[in-house]
Amino acid sequence: MLYKNYIEGQWIDSATGKTFKSLNPADTSDELGEFPASNAQDVAKAVEAADRAFKTWSKVTAPRRGELLFDLAEKMKGRKEELSQLMTREMGKVLKEARGDVQEGIDMTYYMAAEGRRLFGYTTPAELPLKAAYAIRRPIGRIAAITPWNFPLAIPTWKIMPALVAGNTVVWKPASDTPRVAYELVKIFDEVGLPKGVLNLIFGGGSDVGVPLCKHPKINMISFTGSSDTGKEIYKYGAEKLNQVHLELGGKNPIVVLEDGDLELAVEGILWSAFGTTGQRCTACSRLIIEDGVYEKILGKLVARTEKLRLGNGLDPKTDVGPVVNRSSQEKVGRYVEMGVKEGAKLLCGGEMGKDGDLKKGFFYRPTIFSDVTPQMRIFQDEIFGPVLSVVKAKDYDDAITLANNTVYGLSSSIYTQDINKAQRAIEDLEAGITYINSGTIGAEVHLPFGGVKNTGNGGREAGLAAIDEYTEWKTVYIDYSGRLQKAQGID
Ligand code: NDP
Repeated sequence: MLYKNYIEGQWIDSATGKTFKSLNPADTSDELGEFPASNAQDVAKAVEAADRAFKTWSKVTAPRRGELLFDLAEKMKGRKEELSQLMTREMGKVLKEARGDVQEGIDMTYYMAAEGRRLFGYTTPAELPLKAAYAIRRPIGRIAAITPWNFPLAIPTWKIMPALVAGNTVVWKPASDTPRVAYELVKIFDEVGLPKGVLNLIFGGGSDVGVPLCKHPKINMISFTGSSDTGKEIYKYGAEKLNQVHLELGGKNPIVVLEDGDLELAVEGILWSAFGTTGQRCTACSRLIIEDGVYEKILGKLVARTEKLRLGNGLDPKTDVGPVVNRSSQEKVGRYVEMGVKEGAKLLCGGEMGKDGDLKKGFFYRPTIFSDVTPQMRIFQDEIFGPVLSVVKAKDYDDAITLANNTVYGLSSSIYTQDINKAQRAIEDLEAGITYINSGTIGAEVHLPFGGVKNTGNGGREAGLAAIDEYTEWKTVYIDYSGRLQKAQGID
């Protein structure tokens, strides 16, 4: 089936007439649809629509905007299984994880629906008599949302829901690997009666759609999740217009296991964090730092468990690990594994594509573990975004923290220890936006801030109340009811 862009409440063909296909990465003979390969002309139409809609949507009361999101959440809930199955087919993650992705989107939508009755500002005493002072939140305007494929439903809701409840309008460019899930989400918006132009969807590539969208003079804010290179480029486009730019970029997330940690629990957490979503989460654990005394023991258990993980189509309930998203991703993982071997790391398991039987139909890569890794190696430093775990030995707590922080990224982090003092110290010492104690690096909840330090972003946070700060601007109001000219700062 040929799908269309969604502009001002209409499904519309692209100006280019060109299309691209969405394929199942577990079985490329399974096609999820054909989508318009749009261009700057389509983008311009969508931004103009968002501009017209802003004038009315920003005047709809926030509780009413929230009610609409509530209706949307209810509909998403009703279609959870259908959306989850579609997601597994489109980007490969195993079905139970796809259900988690959709659930996260539903949770975010309910959460932001309720923000319609909060959107708290604050009041404070004025320094002069007979004068009121308070601050309220105002929408920013027209927002460009550019999203990746690894959480094709949850990540878009993290951007679109807070933006809409705050009174902004949105033009959304989803990843070219997951257009079908994007289409299904927008269809639900259409069904619940979102006013025309409030959310617009343009399919197409990063340079043909993403770049003109970021550069469009009527876009006031850009919200992006994806690779660091693209993030840096987008930041420049935003800077030229003095736009607010929200960037959620990569991670090279460490799990530290100390000698007093619960080792069985740690192994469970490592497996889940390293190989869940085939290692394609921005919070995935790709570096494991083990204290000397338990190094061999953990590695032994971990490798044994990893070798038992079943690769396959995510719709099969027996599958533990699905494919990576596309061929170029599969090749990238392969290149890094070769590099790891050349750099002198010891390949303990995996290290090859899935080639047997049905695995030939898609883009599979076996969960891979390297030991004897050093911080100088590329496999220790670069975000591979696949099922590859690099393991390092640490002398003690201080050495482990130094290793954990030896990265340009700072998204998620974790430590396994039963020593409350060390756990408390780690919360302060780990350079990351998120720290888990006695749990892996993944599992964020929608009502808490999400984001990272260092090169993981530019200081903003998604989710929770932090998202409301991202998608609103403060307006400060002074009301002088003294009937005379009063000057602040004590001026006579
Ligand atoms: P990209 O950063 O290339 O893509 C993310 C989104 O940005 C997609 O919608 C993409 O469109 C769009 N885009 C690409 N180029 C531009 C541009 N110049 N201007 C505006 N928008 C653009 O990431 P990839 O999906 O290619 O993945 C590459 C790597 O990025 C991964 O291997 C991983 O390291 C990292 N990544 C990190 C994520 C995270 O959650 N932090 C999520 C996804 C990726 P299109 O799909 O059409 O190319």
